[in-house]
Amino acid sequence: MIKNIPFLSLDSQNDLIKAEIKAAFERVFDKKWYVLGQEVQHFENAYANFSNTNHCIGVANGLDALQIALKALGIGPGDEVLAPTNTFIATWLAISHCGATIVPVEPKIDTYNLDFNKIETLITDRTKAIIPVHLYGQICEMDQIMEIAKRYGLYIIEDNAQAQGATYHGKISGSFGDLNCTSFYPTKNLGAFGDAGAITTNDNALANKTRLLRNYGSSEKYVNEQIGYNSRLDEMQAAFLSIKLKYISKWTIERQQIAAQYNSGLAQINQLVLPKLAAGANHVYHLYVIRTMKRDELQQYLYAKGIGTGIHYPIPPHLQKAYAHLNYKKGDFPIVEELSETSLSLPLYPGMLAEDIEYVIKTIHSFYG
Ligand SMILES: *Cc1c(COP(=O)(O)O)cnc(C)c1O
Repeated sequence: MIKNIPFLSLDSQNDLIKAEIKAAFERVFDKKWYVLGQEVQHFENAYANFSNTNHCIGVANGLDALQIALKALGIGPGDEVLAPTNTFIATWLAISHCGATIVPVEPKIDTYNLDFNKIETLITDRTKAIIPVHLYGQICEMDQIMEIAKRYGLYIIEDNAQAQGATYHGKISGSFGDLNCTSFYPTKNLGAFGDAGAITTNDNALANKTRLLRNYGSSEKYVNEQIGYNSRLDEMQAAFLSIKLKYISKWTIERQQIAAQYNSGLAQINQLVLPKLAAGANHVYHLYVIRTMKRDELQQYLYAKGIGTGIHYPIPPHLQKAYAHLNYKKGDFPIVEELSETSLSLPLYPGMLAEDIEYVIKTIHSFYG
């Protein structure tokens, strides 16, 4: 019998919180204060607490968070920023929008995260910052990256859009860098009901600067200290996020249990490469990414059996049309290029039934005979 298993479903999460979300909607609706009020303040406190940082600044989305962080650190034309070749395009776009130069760093072939061994040779006297991206939910090897940043006097901006709650030797993502960025896009581990994002930091001065930048460069109405943005987290999304934040640990455990079931169910298939953890790193499985030489055939086969999958990501940033002016060509970054041809993300979401995970595992076994 063919099942219908989507790549992602929010049904279980939404069912659990529906009554609370409706009550929050009514509260904010009736209050008629929709931008930068108590709901945002409440969520910022709760998320700072979750991230073990002194400050959280809510913004409109993850891309804005990265862009505002770079601006707040004074990064602009002539500056170089190290960023992974293997990332969602937003990491690169933020650097471009600030006018700085992207210096791509290849990932490790086994963790898919930025290879800290490749950082030092890329540092010049124009290098200002490194953006480690905790891709697919696994945190980067932050001790090694922080050590290099410290030695060369570089800023660290974590791109934590995919790894809320992940830890490195017990220290939580979003608490390492000078300014750390996250996204609450609906499909992220902590997702809003629309666009939203945040910056976390322990630095008081940077927190103040970031607060100004997200709101027209202004702390007092009609008084502008900086050339700021309009990038505010709104009250409705903040109210919703405060509710979902209460459940993130439960949902993370569910994600890890699903990954464990995949790990043991797929371990016998030699043709598959399963996710690997770096020493000290944990994984919150935003995505469960496997690799195979027969990626496209396997994806087609699963599709025919009613199983949705994803590819993260089919075209690396350096080969995107948007970056044609940088004149990169195929072969320049062979590791990310190989990942783009062999990676496949399996269905994984809180509430996914054990029997559905088993069906995915069995179907993959039947593909390999
Ligand atoms: C989603 C994502 C972003 C951007 O977040 P938006 O809220 O969609 O702007 C940035 N970086 C990474 C790694 C992401 O996955």
